[in-house]
Amino acid sequence: MFDTLSERLSGALANLRGKGRLSDADIDTTAREIRIALLEADVALPVVRGFISRVKERAKGAEVSGALNPAQQVVKIVNDELVSILGGETRRLRLAKEPPSVIMLAGLQGSGKTTLAGKLAHWLKNQGHTPLLVACDLQRPNAVNQLQIVGERAGATTFAPEPGNGVGDPVDVARRGIAHAREKHYDIVIVDTAGRLGVDEELMKQAADIRDAVSPDETLFVVDAMIGQDAVATAEAFRDGVGFSGVVLTKLDGDARGGAALSVREVTGEPILFASNGEKLADFDVFHPDRMASRILGMGDLLTLIEQAEQAFDQERTAQAAAKMSTGELTLEDFLEQMLAVRKMGPIGNILGMLPGAGQMKDALAQVDDKQLDRLQAIIRGMTPAERADPKIINGSRRLRIANGSGVTVSEVNDVVNRFFEARKVMKQMAGQFGFGSRSATKK
Ligand code: GDP
Repeated sequence: MFDTLSERLSGALANLRGKGRLSDADIDTTAREIRIALLEADVALPVVRGFISRVKERAKGAEVSGALNPAQQVVKIVNDELVSILGGETRRLRLAKEPPSVIMLAGLQGSGKTTLAGKLAHWLKNQGHTPLLVACDLQRPNAVNQLQIVGERAGATTFAPEPGNGVGDPVDVARRGIAHAREKHYDIVIVDTAGRLGVDEELMKQAADIRDAVSPDETLFVVDAMIGQDAVATAEAFRDGVGFSGVVLTKLDGDARGGAALSVREVTGEPILFASNGEKLADFDVFHPDRMASRILGMGDLLTLIEQAEQAFDQERTAQAAAKMSTGELTLEDFLEQMLAVRKMGPIGNILGMLPGAGQMKDALAQVDDKQLDRLQAIIRGMTPAERADPKIINGSRRLRIANGSGVTVSEVNDVVNRFFEARKVMKQMAGQFGFGSRSATKK
């Protein structure tokens, strides 16, 4: 996401590098390039205008600072302004003092509401909540069923009208859903509502009726980032028709331009709470304006990466593996465990994409292939625990068995084993050289 925008902005700002002083003409040129980059990314025109005029004004008035050179100062201004149009501070979900809290989802059909309901339930469960999903999309034939499926995947219960009860009344279902939550002590209710392909009055009225019936603590407007400029008009229609307290951007994985993300908050005045970037339950996160801005400017998103790593890795096991690595005692078992932890964080390309400078490595990142890791994993899994501890014992016939079992060639198995020996040798040498690790390693 934001690839083109990121490239263009970095390009515009790179032109300033190395300049001792910036003339007004320099700033005007850069501002023009930023303007084009934003418009190409589908950012709404009024948002672009405001952004550019603030950047220009601040850049021209900037005092020469000791810490930053002029180019860095402009980068900082652009970054600050990006953070500001994305909403400034991270806005957390507001829950009711007395459970159950009610979160209502509204948006067009296909925007990703049902998928989001599952993701939210999963996320809330991970934080110790007990969410209940309520199926109020009774328009789309399969919607209730779809919600039940994502609910199950998330390990959450879904409250739905009994089958065979005709079309049913979504307002009634919503009310009964809340009563059910109260009775069974669910602490958060997520209400999925119906969407249409386009904005229409009946849809708005139904959503507004449900809102009145359940008095949500949060009404989240769910918007598909891929719809580009239309996102702004749709957001305004929902703001006027139903009203909402926050925005969720979906399908950020598919959108190279990302203008919706940059416009919706500024145009509606409501904050972006979450962002979705894939179809799986875990492809979802709290939206942090500052992190998103630095990602757009190609400065990476190390904070998110670190947080994901903290969740994926068991600290103690990682420390043990590191200790073994420093003495060259790492086994393939340890290696497999660490690799699985890394992979829990998502596709390798996404992980690397969060590193600073990733924008410039786009082509290389596209080459990173999770399938190679799948093969590596399959090979190691095909070994017995004893073989993982000491691959030296894997003879020719075992290599063939492992290759057959994991669907690779014998030479791929040989390759893994040989590279493992090489890596272990290097680790041992380093341990010897730098004097860390066990005593036996330092003596050598
Ligand atoms: P609803 O009609 O608003 O309930 O939308 P759905 O939840 O049914 O989503 C519509 C389609 O978009 C489904 O095929 C989802 O799998 C897909 N989808 C939802 N969120 C995302 C996302 O963040 N990224 C991608 N790539 N697809 C998504």
